[in-house]
Amino acid sequence: MSVHTDQSPAAVTVLGLGPMGRALAAAFLDAGLRTTVWNRTPGRDGDLVARGAVAASSAAEAVAASPLTVVCVVNYDASDAVLRQEDVTTALKGHTLVNLSADTPDRARDTAEWAGRHGIRYLDGAIMTPAPTIGTPDAVFLHSGPEELYREHRPVLAALGGTHTHLGEDTGRAAAYDVALLDIFWTATAGYTHALAVARAEGITGAELAPFAQGIAAILPSHFTELAADTDAGTYSGEVNPITSAASTMAHVVHASEAHGIDASVMRVIEGQARRVIALGHGTDGFTRVAEVIGRS
Ligand code: NDP
Repeated sequence: MSVHTDQSPAAVTVLGLGPMGRALAAAFLDAGLRTTVWNRTPGRDGDLVARGAVAASSAAEAVAASPLTVVCVVNYDASDAVLRQEDVTTALKGHTLVNLSADTPDRARDTAEWAGRHGIRYLDGAIMTPAPTIGTPDAVFLHSGPEELYREHRPVLAALGGTHTHLGEDTGRAAAYDVALLDIFWTATAGYTHALAVARAEGITGAELAPFAQGIAAILPSHFTELAADTDAGTYSGEVNPITSAASTMAHVVHASEAHGIDASVMRVIEGQARRVIALGHGTDGFTRVAEVIGRS
């Protein structure tokens, strides 16, 4: 029987008090849970303690205080630095650990393997929305690992608000969704940032461009659905926009940018991917053919 059976199930520990860790702890407090907090650098828990959080003097003391520990630090190098200290690992034995820090699927699987070796019950997770959404209906959490363990802790995790989705028993699955979704977010943000620079060089303000940029964004939801189906089916249809035509428009972006001395290397890479697809004989396909070609050696 695990060591935590005499502890209140409505108790939780949060390790890591950056903007996200603080938001998680605040949501647990708002839900009336006994919340113990710890951060590597002292002094980040002031507001939380004022609201009733218990400040632990060490990470080991923090994890010993609750049957469930949520860790949310910058990445898994950081969570390893905290969790793999001998006294912390020992204190976690028989407890549940949920790692909501972001990193790669392999790091998540490696952490599950480490946890298993030390008798720690482990769930991995990813947070897909910004800190201010935590505790609101807009928050989005992804979870992976043993489903039974997820179900057991689901009521406490629900205090974080929003939508929680268990993606499967493969511990790396939440991180796999996370990196795929971050891929979209950062390339889209980089594209928009670049567009703002090109527009500014042409005397167009951000405010002038933004309504039309919103128009592009409005196309994307149905575009995403269609491209996903096309890629899953392996059809890579170029009926609406063959990649030869797409590559031509990419070249316009490169030339217009470089005429203003603006680095166009990202678009050059994208155009290069399109040209490679054409060179491989898929010129009548759509841009989604890149998804198949990009992994070829
Ligand atoms: P950061 O990603 O900047 O992480 C800060 C936290 O990591 C602090 O608690 C910091 O401690 C700790 N940390 C860093 N290095 C170490 C280390 N070597 N040992 C121990 N602790 C360390 O801030 P956030 O709180 O915003 O993010 C936490 C996680 O949540 C990240 O993985 C992030 O990607 C994810 N996330 C954040 C979102 C947001 O809106 N902020 C949105 C979605 C996900 P110290 O104070 O001592 O430096």
